[in-house]
Amino acid sequence: MTGTVHVVGAGLAGLAAAVDLVRTGRRVALYEAGPQAGGRCRSYHDPELGCRIDNGNHLLLSGNRATLAYLDAIGAADRLTGPDQPRFPFLDLALGERWTLALSPGRWPGWIFDAASRLPGTGAWDYLRALGLAWAGADATVAECLAGHGEVYRRLWQPFAVAALNTETETASARLLWAVMRETFERGGLACRPLVPRVDLSESLIEPALIFLARNRCLVKMSARLRRIDATRDWVTGLDMGGSTQAIGEDDAVVLAVPAPVAASLVEGLIVPTQFRAIVNAHYRMAVPRERAGEAGILGLVGGVAEWIFVKREVVSVTVSAADRVVDRPAEELAPAIWREVARALDLDAKAMPPARIVKERRATFAATPEQLARRPGPATRWRNLVLAGDWTATGLPGTIEGAVRSGQTAARALAAA
Ligand SMILES: Cc1cc2nc3c(=O)[nH]c(=O)nc-3n(C[C@H](O)[C@H](O)[C@H](O)COP(=O)(O)OP(=O)(O)OC[C@H]3O[C@@H](n4cnc5c(N)ncnc54)[C@H](O)[C@@H]3O)c2cc1C
Repeated sequence: MTGTVHVVGAGLAGLAAAVDLVRTGRRVALYEAGPQAGGRCRSYHDPELGCRIDNGNHLLLSGNRATLAYLDAIGAADRLTGPDQPRFPFLDLALGERWTLALSPGRWPGWIFDAASRLPGTGAWDYLRALGLAWAGADATVAECLAGHGEVYRRLWQPFAVAALNTETETASARLLWAVMRETFERGGLACRPLVPRVDLSESLIEPALIFLARNRCLVKMSARLRRIDATRDWVTGLDMGGSTQAIGEDDAVVLAVPAPVAASLVEGLIVPTQFRAIVNAHYRMAVPRERAGEAGILGLVGGVAEWIFVKREVVSVTVSAADRVVDRPAEELAPAIWREVARALDLDAKAMPPARIVKERRATFAATPEQLARRPGPATRWRNLVLAGDWTATGLPGTIEGAVRSGQTAARALAAA
């Protein structure tokens, strides 16, 4: 195929596909239903706080190879920032204890044999037990494999699993957690350095891609929602954009990079994940010295509602993952409850809560349960000129930026091969 590739959905999956296709010399048109690109990974001006915020804090790791390659391609390799070493400060809100998880830089996990680097009250054997995940059955959950291993579970595996899979450990897939560990811990500490946007999500991951695409004569249309796909038995012939139909010729192709429920509504018979998990973010308008949350401005919390604190330029932002247990609580109740924990963690006045904004993403990612993983499709569809992309497709990774970018790159390669 040598014609135009029509990419539908300008989240990270669609953007990564468009960037890859443009780089191989394809003509590309990108359509986005919303007024702005980025999907679940975007920044916007919040009038109440009077500054720009991210829809949710996003943490990347230095081992996220596809994302780093994507940033390199769009000339934004310097737009993520993080510490030189894989160090994660933590606070136990229940016990008031602080510690820093300091991974060894190389592949040999020397840190688990060093009492000063591992968690207080744990021994090397507690960590080695996690290798059991490698033999987890397809239906096994993280809690079945790792719970009951005391402090190392409560203070490391549980927060790590919930952050990586956005699913409570009682139902989250042990195999998927092992896949994440192979991408991170197994590749050594230098693949586990935390990375965050230098300014905000859109400035790092979205706007440079749009500039790159515009420079490469990619047509980008916002507020363009795909309503229906016209097709023969095995070939897409048109995209009904509501009011106008984009004809798809014999040399053209389509990348459908929309969320799972939207894809299922457009492609009859497509099996997709149907369960999702929420993420709640609390943003407080306040400038705080970054070091209060460790050198990277990121502090992990256990024993409370808040799980991660991100100290940014103008706001302090908090993430609660797998947040279905709190997502229905009113913002007026959540904001002060989370603030009390932030104040304790950063040594601020608990009674002086700054202006706050609670952002609830009810369908932040698909539920990473064994049952839902079995519903993730590969890129190919019954239509030879339409491939799927999105963090919910069968990437082998959870619903993350890295998964979304890889899915877009896989879709682009599938078309190149065709
Ligand atoms: C609050 C929150 C916190 C997160 N934290 C992290 C984190 O710390 N680290 C991490 O790696 N990941 C994190 N994630 C996950 C990450 O954001 C997603 O995995 C990733 O953004 C998904 O990208 P995507 O392109 O697959 O999907 P989406 O971002 O959903 O993109 C799909 C796009 O398609 C568009 N669209 C929908 N219907 C149509 C239509 N009919 N026609 C045209 N366009 C359409 C949508 O508007 C959207 O822009 C987080 C997600 C959330 C919500």
